Amino acid sequence: MGKDSRIEWTHHTFNPWWGCVKVSAACDHCYADTWAKRLGEGLWGPRTPRRFFSDAHWKEPLRWNREAARDKVRRRVFCASMADVFENRPDLVEERRRLLDLIAQTPHLDWLLLTKRIHLVRKQLPKGYEFPKNVWLGTTVEDQATANKRIRHLLEFSSPSVRFLSCEPLLSAIDLTQHLVRNDRGNRVDWVIAGGESGPHSRPMDPAWPAALQRQCALAKVPFHFKQWGHWAPVEQVADVMKKSTPIRVIRQDGTEVSVAAIGKGKAGRVLAGKHWDQFPRTVL
Ligand code: SF4
Repeated sequence: MGKDSRIEWTHHTFNPWWGCVKVSAACDHCYADTWAKRLGEGLWGPRTPRRFFSDAHWKEPLRWNREAARDKVRRRVFCASMADVFENRPDLVEERRRLLDLIAQTPHLDWLLLTKRIHLVRKQLPKGYEFPKNVWLGTTVEDQATANKRIRHLLEFSSPSVRFLSCEPLLSAIDLTQHLVRNDRGNRVDWVIAGGESGPHSRPMDPAWPAALQRQCALAKVPFHFKQWGHWAPVEQVADVMKKSTPIRVIRQDGTEVSVAAIGKGKAGRVLAGKHWDQFPRTVL
């Protein structure tokens, strides 16, 4: 799908800046940090500088917006793959304001703002600001503890068109049931993305975890997107492409077990329960 993005659920990616600070277990193997280091940029940590961009970079979404208007097709923009839009630092205040202006100027684009700092979002927005309808607001939840902590903040926001979760890297079973029905504000989780971790130090994902999320979403009629198995895949599904990889057994709390093998995300694919899950929320704009 990606026009100029390699992330399958978006058309474009836009980064208002690069750099961040790790905040939870999902950040342990942050690919953005690794990628920036590979390019010789030390941008991660509270005292390191952030990398900012030229006007030419900021003009790109204006072009995407013109193209979307011309083609009469809405396009999704993932923001940000190399930062967290709601990181709390004085030097990011102006850049974030510039981003909000850009979102207002690009009504043919749907902006996916994904953050692990959902508890800080309200505080970081200008006074009285409400997200426009071309914002989809999301938070990462990698386990039950982060789900319990972050989702309640996400569901405080009524103005984005979509409230979504990225359950990637999925590090434990998560029960989302109570968040898939509307709360007293009329808000619920409108879309769930799940996936396992990729890269050499990846933590194995029990295949039962994304399968349970898919079932919870199906029951609640909430769209579900399975992005990838990641580095580890269920042996029963990938036995024909396994070569030297030694399977490991995951022993569950209930005593049952499953074997997964480190075969890399390319070979592991993204088939869950016999099919691809590419569901997206419907929006009316
Ligand atoms: S919040 Fe995102 S960009 Fe920041 S350290 Fe964590 S994974 Fe990396």
